[in-house]
Amino acid sequence: MVQILRAADMGFCMGVRRAVEIMQQAARPDAPVYSLGEVVHNPHVVRRLEEGGVRPLPGPDVLDGNLGSEAARIAQGRPVAITAHGVGLRVLEELRAYGLPIVDTTCPIVTRAQRYAQKFVRDGYHVLIFGDPGHKEVRGILGWAIDANGISRATVVESPAMDRLRTLIAEFPGGFPSKVGVMAQTTHKMEDFARFVANLMLLQRERNFELHVVNTLCHATTGQQEAAAWLARRVDVMIVVGGRKSANTRHLREVCEEQGTPAYHVEGPDELQPAWFERAERIGITAGASTPDESVDAVEARIRELLHA
Ligand code: SF4
Repeated sequence: MVQILRAADMGFCMGVRRAVEIMQQAARPDAPVYSLGEVVHNPHVVRRLEEGGVRPLPGPDVLDGNLGSEAARIAQGRPVAITAHGVGLRVLEELRAYGLPIVDTTCPIVTRAQRYAQKFVRDGYHVLIFGDPGHKEVRGILGWAIDANGISRATVVESPAMDRLRTLIAEFPGGFPSKVGVMAQTTHKMEDFARFVANLMLLQRERNFELHVVNTLCHATTGQQEAAAWLARRVDVMIVVGGRKSANTRHLREVCEEQGTPAYHVEGPDELQPAWFERAERIGITAGASTPDESVDAVEARIRELLHA
């Protein structure tokens, strides 16, 4: 009898649950709220929210430079909602300048990272963000690391590898700063962030410099990664459920593979392939922080069908 086991900690995190609830309370089908981009990287949740009146506007990255007027034109006085990933200060100011009511669902853990970025800059640090430069949360944090003249005082670095950091230091415009504040995208892996900080210090060992590290990683994400790794070591195959664009879902799959277990990332039950389960006696399931329980239930039900086909 094949066993199907779920990770002890998985699925909707506090920040996403909170954002979805706030938006659902603020919107009605006949009185919409316009969210700046998708509320979560999960097509099922986005569809359900749209039915309740939460309509995505193109994200601030798409509307760059023209956000206020575009949002005002589309929203026509209806509230604009900031998603759990948050936005930069300028975006907030633009929305306010156009008189649009704001429903702010930024996750408190992301807000904390934004405030640290702002504080670092005020205290004279250059901010290094270990993260994906194109990720919405990272772009939002960048938007708080600006000085009084509106100049960015932050750099996003996507890799903890020695070579990448060596190049960063060697080619830093005007020389590598002597005061550096370091933080990470909230959904990154603890091991990678630790490597980032350690490598940075090793490369600067000949030099007196001030390094201020703040742990901006999200406990919800690290807890889910630990639970996924624990389960992956005990099963023959892992199925990771979540939106294709979800960074934390992708990291969950990586964590599972690092345990030596094949892991497959699916958005829904239709993507499951019978060949994945051919020799499996124990199948594990985990899900990203933006994945609702219904999606996990549907995937598990389909696995059971495939096993009995
Ligand atoms: Fe907030 Fe963590 Fe959820 Fe991101 S993963 S929304 S930081 S609780």
